[in-house]
This record gives sequence, structure tokens and C-alpha cells, in this order.
Amino acid sequence: MADNAQVALRAVGLRKHFGGLTAVSDVSLDVHTGEIHAVIGPNGAGKSTLINLLSGDLSPSAGEIMLGGQNSSGFDDITRLAPDRRARAGLGRSYQKTTIFPQFSAQENVRLAAQAHAASPLKMFGNVTSDADVNRRTSEALEQAGLLARAQMIATHLSHGEQRQLEIAMVLATQPRIILLDEPLAGMGQSEARKVVDLIASLKQGRAVLVVEHDMDAVFELADRLTVMADGHVIASGLPQDVRIDPAVRLAYLGV
Ligand code: ADP
Ligand code: MG
Repeated sequence: MADNAQVALRAVGLRKHFGGLTAVSDVSLDVHTGEIHAVIGPNGAGKSTLINLLSGDLSPSAGEIMLGGQNSSGFDDITRLAPDRRARAGLGRSYQKTTIFPQFSAQENVRLAAQAHAASPLKMFGNVTSDADVNRRTSEALEQAGLLARAQMIATHLSHGEQRQLEIAMVLATQPRIILLDEPLAGMGQSEARKVVDLIASLKQGRAVLVVEHDMDAVFELADRLTVMADGHVIASGLPQDVRIDPAVRLAYLGV
């Protein structure tokens, strides 16, 4: 494929069973560097399960997950890698439920994320990542997420929208090449959502972004590529303007 060079993350034939239920069924997709790939679909479609498979929080029943651009042969198989190893390989994610420490400041939360990522087995041979590096990554992440002015505020005192910005800052502090976001706009008012949409738009600079989101205005504003899931299957994928007029998509969403 001509555009393999830009594929940062590739899923091939992913499947996940929970007992008799097939939550994800034969899902293949590519996430490209410099692009936002949105995944949409009704509740229960398998979107969060797909993110969990990509991040390594769940193991697939079948299929492969590969990182692009790591070596000369093009792809590295990460299907069996634990989540922390994937994170170290450049895969960052947010969760649908918050992972913030509520009584710590915004800055402390981001610093912890930067430190957790820096702590590697190599550390026993010396301080691989310096405090200065952690400090730099912490302030860069706070700045990109628009939280510098809120850095000293206790996380629980931040607005809902600012807490989502903080989660993204915590992902950025791990310096990912690929970012997976599960419903980053959930429960947000319009003005809060505006800020977070702008933040998400900025993430694709030099990175690949996969975002699961229900807010269709945001999806069509952000997405360079779109995959639609229903009942565990991909029912449509491609450019947003093509997918939105796809009869199978209209049927899944509108029942017409
Ligand atoms: P979505 O994020 O698109 O709403 P999910 O991936 O959360 O969908 O869920 C897909 C299906 O898998 C649903 O039917 C859900 O009930 C089921 N499911 C998700 N996680 C589990 C689990 N850990 N155990 C059993 N069933 C699950
Ligand atoms: Mg979900």
C-alpha cells in the first residue's frame, strides 16, 4: 500500500468475545499520522472494547494490532504487548471514566503521568529521565492543554471541561505518537466542548489520533477519516463526507 508509511496504528481482523457475546467482530482499521480517525456507532456497538483492545487493556480473541513506522520492515506486532509496554512504544489513551487524582493539583497530576511513563527498568542503571525532563514535559503538556493558568488548582475544583483537558494533558505528558480518546466530550456543555474540540484538533500535529465520540457536530468537524460500528462490526468507513451519506449508516442511526 502506497500510504503505509503514514500508518501509525493498524488493526487487522480484531475480534473480542465476552462469553457468548461478540463485542468486536472482524474489525480492521488504519490510523494515520497527522490525522484524526473518528469511530462512531450506537451504544453497545463495541467502540470502547475496540479502544481497550488497541491499548492492551483487553486481549483480542482473534486478530492483530500493529504499530507502523518503527522499523524498516514497516510494522511491529504489538498484539500481545501489555498496556505499559504499548504506552512506552508511543500509544497513549484516555479512559471513559476519569483517572485523575482529585485532591492533587493539575500540575501534580500531569507530573505523575510524566514520571510514571519515565520510570523504566533501565532506571536501575542510572537516572534515564531527569527531573528537568519531567518538568519540561509537565509544563509543555499543561500549556498545550490550555491549563497553565490552572496548574496549581486542586483537580476536583476544576470544571468538568477542564478535568477533561487535564486528562488529555496527562496523556500528552507521556509523549505519545498515537492517542486514543474514548468520548472526550461526554457530559460537556457547549462552551466547554468548544475548548476540548479545539484541543483535540491540535493533537494530530505529528501524531495519530483515534477518537470515539457521540457528538456528531464535533465528529464531522474533527474527523479526517471515519469508521462506523454497529453490533461489533464495521458497517462503513472512509472519508466523512462519503460515510455520512452511506445507506447502511443511515439505517443504523435513523432506522430508515
Ligand atoms: P460502546 O462503547 O460502543 O457503547 P462497548 O464496547 O462498551 O460498546 O460494549 C460492546 C458490547 O460488549 C456491549 O454489549 C457490552 O455490554 C459488552 N461488554 C463490554 N465490556 C464487557 C465486559 N467486560 N464483559 C462482558 N460484556 C461486555
Ligand atoms: Mg463506550
